Amino acid sequence: MAQAQAIPLTRHAFADGSFKKMLIDGKWVAAASGKHFESRNPATGELLATVAEGDAEDINRAVTAARKAFEGPWSKFKPFERQLVLLKLADLVERHFDELSSLDTLDMGAPISRTRGTRQRVLGMLRWYAGQATSIHGETIPNSLPGEIFSYTLKEPVGVVGAIIPWNGPLGASIWKVGPALATGCTVILKPAEEAPLASLRLGELALEAGVPPGVVNVVPGYGETAGAALAAHPGVDKVAFTGSHLTGQSIVKASAGNLKRVSLELGGKSPDIVFADADMDAAVPGAAMAVFANSGQICSAGTRMFVEQKVYDEFTDRVAAFGKGLRVGNGLDPETQIGPLVSEQQLERVTGYLSLGKQEGARLAGGGGRPAHLNRGYFIEPTVFANVDNRSTIAQEEIFGPVLSVIPADGEEAAIQIANDTVYGLNNSVFTNDIDRAYRTARRLLRASFLYLPAVLALLLLNPLPA
Ligand code: ADP
Repeated sequence: MAQAQAIPLTRHAFADGSFKKMLIDGKWVAAASGKHFESRNPATGELLATVAEGDAEDINRAVTAARKAFEGPWSKFKPFERQLVLLKLADLVERHFDELSSLDTLDMGAPISRTRGTRQRVLGMLRWYAGQATSIHGETIPNSLPGEIFSYTLKEPVGVVGAIIPWNGPLGASIWKVGPALATGCTVILKPAEEAPLASLRLGELALEAGVPPGVVNVVPGYGETAGAALAAHPGVDKVAFTGSHLTGQSIVKASAGNLKRVSLELGGKSPDIVFADADMDAAVPGAAMAVFANSGQICSAGTRMFVEQKVYDEFTDRVAAFGKGLRVGNGLDPETQIGPLVSEQQLERVTGYLSLGKQEGARLAGGGGRPAHLNRGYFIEPTVFANVDNRSTIAQEEIFGPVLSVIPADGEEAAIQIANDTVYGLNNSVFTNDIDRAYRTARRLLRASFLYLPAVLALLLLNPLPA
C-alpha cells in the first residue's frame, strides 16, 4: 500500500526553495508589488519556496482575466467539454498524486499517511464534479395563467468566483472550490492560505495542462488582510466561496455587501462527542480520541468537547489520555507518524496560550500539555486531554485548532444534550451508545450541522433561474 512506503527526506521537485509565481490569465507572473513571502516546513523550519505575494492589484488583474474568460472562451464550452476538462484534470491529479500529497505534508505538516489517504476522496470529488457538468439542468413549470405560456428555468453559471481556503488540507480544499466552478461554467480566483500555498499552485499548473483556458483558473497567493480582503470586496466578483475561521467569515459577509455577492461559508466548530455509559468503550476511545487528535486538531469538525457520563468518566478520560500518549508525534514525512506539527509558529503560540489558560481556569491536565520531549524543533504539541472542564470556560467555548480535548462530565441524556448545545457553534456532533433509540433521539436534538456539504456549495453556485 502507498501509505507504507518510506518517503525519502530529499528535496521535493516543487518545494526546492525556489521562487513560485502566481497564476493569472494562464501566465505565471510575479506580484505587481514585487513582494514575496516564504513557505517553510513546520516540522523542520526548512525553506520550501518563496512565493509571489498577491495583493489588491493582483486580485484586480485576476478578476479582469476571470471576467474575460467567463464571457469569452469558457462560455463556449459545452457541458461535455467541461466534463472532459475535469476528467483530464482528475487523471493528472491521479498521476501526480504522490507528489501532491507529499507537497501538502511538507507545506502544512500533516502525516503522509493522512495526505496519501485522501487519494480516493480527492479523485472521487473531481470525477463527481465532472459528472455534475452534464447533469444539472432547469425545470419545465406547469403554468395556470390564461393563454399559452411556456415557463421554464435555466441554470446559469453565477460568473466569477473568489475561492478563499485555509491551510489544514490544501489539496482537497483547492479541489473543493475549483471543481464546482469548472463544472458549472464559472471562472475562479483561488486564494490559498499564506501558510500553505504550494499544492494550490501545483494544481494550477495541472489545470492548464488539462486544457483549462487562460483566465478560467487563477491562483493568487497572499495574506488574508490584503489579497483575501480584496477578493471578498471586489465588485467584479459574483460569488465568494470561503472556508476558514468564523471571524474571517464575518469579515467576508461584510465585505461582500458592496455588490451583494453570493457567499458560501464553511466555518469553525467546537463540536461535541457524547459518550454514554453503555457505549462500547473499545470503539468509543479511539473514535473520540482521533476525532480531536487527527490532523493535530486542525479540522473544523474536530470533536473538541467530550461529554461523558459519571459512571465511566474517570475510566474513559484515562483511556483517551493514554491513547493520545501512545500516538506517534513527528515529522509528517515519516510513514509511522500519526500526528504531525501544527502549521506555524503563530498557531503554536495560539495553542500553547490555550494550554496555559486551561490550567488557569482550573481544568485538570490528564495527558499531554506541552512539546513532546523527543522533538526539539518544529511546531509540535502533544495530544492533550483536560479533565473536569467547565463547559462555560474559554477552552470549552473557543475554537483552539490544536490537539486539545476538553472532557466534561454530563449525567443523563437531557443534561448531555443541553450542555452540548451550549455553544455558539453548530458543526458536527457524535453520540457513542449501544442504544439505537437513544442514538437517533439524541442526534436529532443536537444543534444542526452547519457544515456545507458539496451539493449545497454547488447549488449556491448555480441557482440563478431566469424569470419565466
Ligand atoms: P485559519 O484560522 O484557518 O487560518 P482564517 O479565516 O484566518 O482561518 O484563514 C482562512 C483563509 O482566509 C486564508 O486563506 C486567509 O488568508 C484568509 N483570510 C484571512 N483574513 C481574511 C479577510 N479579512 N478577508 C478575506 N480572507 C481572509
